[in-house]
Amino acid sequence: MHAPTAPMTPSSGHCIFCDLIRGAAEVSICYEDATAIAFLDIQPVNAGHVLVVPREHYETLQDIPAHVGMHLYQVAAKLIPVVQTASGATDMNIVVNSGLAAGQNVMHYHIHLIPRQHDDGFDVPLPFPGSTMPHRQQLDAMAARIGSLLRDPLSDREMKKERRRASDLD
Ligand code: AMP
Ligand code: ZN
Repeated sequence: MHAPTAPMTPSSGHCIFCDLIRGAAEVSICYEDATAIAFLDIQPVNAGHVLVVPREHYETLQDIPAHVGMHLYQVAAKLIPVVQTASGATDMNIVVNSGLAAGQNVMHYHIHLIPRQHDDGFDVPLPFPGSTMPHRQQLDAMAARIGSLLRDPLSDREMKKERRRASDLD
């Protein structure tokens, strides 16, 4: 039995994953090194649901230094076949909820490794049933916009302004 801990952090500013990493709460660790730690999700979709987490507190992928981000994906890649074997799953969702609007509840970046079974009731519904297919011109325009931002990056301030403008167009 585990002692229940308050898991969610967006409003409290308190980070449960930092607590787990410094050994202040119960956790079932399956992998660790100097940069990363992986442990079992306390409320798994299926047995073997693992979270791959940086030891340092970063909120989203954008906040993470490139070498740490790469390392987390290397750890995830190493764990995936092993978790599949241990859980008896043949398939897996690798999920990152990045930011509140994307459903991130614990604001310490993490990669979910979710072993899947047929008819387990979980779903990441893509394509999204509530969406329609845009005209090719709209897809082309967005591709061109992304390409141009890659070639000519905006400053952080300009980026924020541009995000607000683009979200108002939605
Ligand atoms: P997300 O919504 O992507 O931020 O996912 C947070 C995940 O962290 C959820 O799947 C929770 O079940 C899991 N979680 C929350 N608290 C703990 C904890 N103390 N130990 C292990 N997993 C946790
Ligand atoms: Zn943290």
